[in-house]
Amino acid sequence: MSSPAGARRRAGERCVTLADRVDAAAAESIAVRSPPTDEVIAQVPDCSRDDVETIVDRARAAQTTWTEWPVEKRVAVLDRFCDSLLEHRRDLLDLIQLETGKPRHNAVEELLDAVGTCTYYVDTAPKLVESERRSGAFPAITDARVHYEPVGVVGVISPWNYPFNLSLTDAIPALAAGNAVVCKPDERTPFATLFAASLLEAAGAPPGLFAVATGRGETTGPALVDAVDHISFTGGTETGRAVAERAGQNLIDCSLELGGKNPFIVLDDANISAAVRGAVAGAFANAGQLCLAPERIYVHESVYEPFLAELCSATESLSIGFEFGYGPDVGSMIDGDHVDRVDGYVQEAIDDGASCHVGGRRRPDVGPHFYEPTILTGVDPDSRIACEETFGPVVSVTPVKDAATAIDMATNTTYGLNGSVWTTDLGRGRHVATSLDCGTVCINDPYLVGWAALDAPMGGVGDSGLGRRHGPEGLRRYLESRTIATSRIGPFVSPSIVPMGLYARALVGSARLQRRLTRLKRRLSPR
Ligand code: NAD
Repeated sequence: MSSPAGARRRAGERCVTLADRVDAAAAESIAVRSPPTDEVIAQVPDCSRDDVETIVDRARAAQTTWTEWPVEKRVAVLDRFCDSLLEHRRDLLDLIQLETGKPRHNAVEELLDAVGTCTYYVDTAPKLVESERRSGAFPAITDARVHYEPVGVVGVISPWNYPFNLSLTDAIPALAAGNAVVCKPDERTPFATLFAASLLEAAGAPPGLFAVATGRGETTGPALVDAVDHISFTGGTETGRAVAERAGQNLIDCSLELGGKNPFIVLDDANISAAVRGAVAGAFANAGQLCLAPERIYVHESVYEPFLAELCSATESLSIGFEFGYGPDVGSMIDGDHVDRVDGYVQEAIDDGASCHVGGRRRPDVGPHFYEPTILTGVDPDSRIACEETFGPVVSVTPVKDAATAIDMATNTTYGLNGSVWTTDLGRGRHVATSLDCGTVCINDPYLVGWAALDAPMGGVGDSGLGRRHGPEGLRRYLESRTIATSRIGPFVSPSIVPMGLYARALVGSARLQRRLTRLKRRLSPR
């Protein structure tokens, strides 16, 4: 491995070159800082509404070529792109680390997610975009075929916490389906997405097909929503509402992947050491800046004491810091405002009577935006920290008398993104899982087993979002269906020689016959 200083310098130089890829005449620019040091890495254009329109027009032109290519040729480009992600992994991991301040193992998660998503859709997209035969209005004399067309240009708005994979995980199926994509990454983390755009073009995609519009959320974001045919948004719930309102005004479809307040339930028969490993890996992944991270742990009272003791000891042993290598367990948070926000929640909880067992402190000695992994108990269930997403390295632990109480407390929230259940009885785990109002529930794992099930839909309910990514659902949202129905006997109107009453009775008779046939079919092949 090269020296950390060398990695930082090379990644910084690459950022300056990548910023030139943005097709903007923008007068304004944004200084992007590296969180572990707060130093400016490079400037990127702050795209105006005109810039966004230019970028989308260019993407639209590129899409007309792309969509004419057979799907096999499109996925071949994505396949080469996937190879190049693995080939350039060191540069990519350096870049992700430089702009987020996360540990290298969390950057690897981003790479592997993008590679897995590419591999999945390269394999499945050709089938998913194929036309289908459906039942016609009347068997034999009519038929119906459904054709799938790309919607056009998809806008992807992504957040800073996993900037690389959260841009790509929604962009890849959109591209495979024949769309162009214009991505607006968070203004704090644009470079990994710009790098992806350069690699995709090198893999053979038409120039401008996957474009990046850098800029501020409140200006470039709405301009993008106004210019595209579908918006795929990942970010906070309040921003998601604003995006959905705007998409509604424009009558375009949108998918929203929003925040969570994820419960983690430890049942009395759980393997305590495994649950502790899962809690630490989940709650403090990416310094807790992970939408799927558990923030509320409910533990059966019979195992509460040993669980808490082991959790505290495992958390105390985590190392905090930053290096371009597989070093510290917990990295930097994104910026000073976010550290202030998280610390504000923690201090307020302590003022309200919660006990802080581990952490609860900033670490300016390590770097400007580091915060210690924090464990709280005795949190008031109506307090801000219990109800609102913290999005930092903070978790609360609460004893419960039984599984039903855990379910009640877990579901007492407006969010519904990800839940986790820990038990040695998998049947019991699945039963508890079905009672949680979450888009995903993981048994004996904090989040990865659900996220990595790329064939299964993923997303939130309630304040956690709308629509699903991953699986067939993750691609079909970017397709418009067109039904072509054919009559083999001419128009379905009453023939002039048949009286209207007789014709109507014939239709009712036919409806009855169809109902009988459907019932018979159900009886012959019950579900
Ligand atoms: P945010 O909503 O402030 O920003 C997300 C993106 O939206 C950024 O690119 C930002 O520039 C842009 N944006 C801001 N205002 C906008 C507007 N008015 N119109 C259009 N775009 C706008 O999110 P954040 O707080 O920085 O990110 C963290 C949040 O993201 C957390 O709530 C987290 O749970 C959520 N998140 C969800 C998922 C998921 O898959 N469900 C994944 C990661 C993060």
